[in-house]
Amino acid sequence: MSMRFGIDLGGTKIEIVALEDDGTVRLRRRVPSPASYADTIDAIAALVAGAERETGIKGSVGVGIPGSLSPVTGLVRNANNQSLNGKPLDQDLIAAIGRPVRVTNDANCLAMSEAADGAGAGFRTVFAVIMGTGCGGGIVSSGRILDGPNGTAGEWGHTPLPWMRPEEFPGHRCWCGRHGCLETYLSGTGLALDCDGPGSRDASSIPARAAAGEAKAAAALARHADRLARALGMIANILDPDVIVLGGGLSNMQHLYTEVPALMARHVFGDVARTPIVQAKHGDSSGVFGAARLWDGG
Ligand SMILES: [Zn+2]
Repeated sequence: MSMRFGIDLGGTKIEIVALEDDGTVRLRRRVPSPASYADTIDAIAALVAGAERETGIKGSVGVGIPGSLSPVTGLVRNANNQSLNGKPLDQDLIAAIGRPVRVTNDANCLAMSEAADGAGAGFRTVFAVIMGTGCGGGIVSSGRILDGPNGTAGEWGHTPLPWMRPEEFPGHRCWCGRHGCLETYLSGTGLALDCDGPGSRDASSIPARAAAGEAKAAAALARHADRLARALGMIANILDPDVIVLGGGLSNMQHLYTEVPALMARHVFGDVARTPIVQAKHGDSSGVFGAARLWDGG
């Protein structure tokens, strides 16, 4: 039997999972994320060593991070875990663990996990979206992560809201330096800001408030669904994925699955708009499961 180790490197915790050939979870451990980069490398190496002791099998290693490796410099960029930015994470892990390591962003891990045995199973091209604190996306086609010369495939969160209305133009300023990024509208942070104004960051109460009749909350959810529909319509016109999988905290909002498909149809060029929009099956575990699958497909 072979073993696949997946590591989800988050801002607050590092998690490891050992996946057997058939997808069975052999073990799962988590530790708090250390503050320093050197301690992070040590913690990951220790998790892998511990997992190998427990399973008795040397496995492949994949790592999901909230950022990406620059294809030019090989250094981490755009990570919201600041200690990682500017560091040669994959090279340092290879040195610490003593074997090849694949590193990719957490949205690509979500796409891998859901395409393999989640909500995207059986579909050729899967566009997976994370809507949580931020907003990211990843593409898996025929079992492989789609990537290109810039390492940016699927990074829809930092493209501008399409079919912007006059009152939306030019959009909020994003942390990335641009205006009107989808992340500033579609993330939980963006939804909270839209509903409750500056300083609001937590959207978790908004669905219940809307259900209880609060007009402001219902209006914010309607704007959010419409903006998501526009953003996904653009994806259908460029990529035309066979399925769209929603992950992250906001993917629990069930109205998205009933309302967004019809709203999206207006923006899909042509006479059909039948892309299924489904909720991620593996929830918070998609990152770590997808990381374990980064060596699948060669
Ligand atoms: Zn941005």
